[in-house]
Amino acid sequence: MEIGYTVHKLFVGLRLRCPNCEQGHMFHGLFAMDETCPYCGVRYERREGESIGGTMINLVCAEVLSMGGYIITQALFAPSLAFQLTFWVTFNIVFILLFYRHARGIWASLSFLSGNVYPDPDTQKEFTGQVK
Ligand SMILES: [Zn+2]
Repeated sequence: MEIGYTVHKLFVGLRLRCPNCEQGHMFHGLFAMDETCPYCGVRYERREGESIGGTMINLVCAEVLSMGGYIITQALFAPSLAFQLTFWVTFNIVFILLFYRHARGIWASLSFLSGNVYPDPDTQKEFTGQVK
């Protein structure tokens, strides 16, 4: 798999578009993710609890940014510990709320790249007619 294709699909997820067709919107509210694409019908998350992957992306990004920011501001300006804690705790809460949808979108793109985002099988075609 080409690295440019991978990066492109991750940006598609970051923009909250369906990683398969790149047309459908993944969210219809502030925090409510659609189960399937309204455009092409693929299912974004197939297994129960899979959204924890997006949560992990969100938390890792928040921690890397706030720890990096803490170290840089401490080295440059040496503000008080009370200021640092207040600022970076607030930053974490706001960032996690604002980045939640985008982290879930990136996770959906990662699922797509690993082959787990595809349409549900048609139940009419799957039905064999054998009823016991
Ligand atoms: Zn789609």
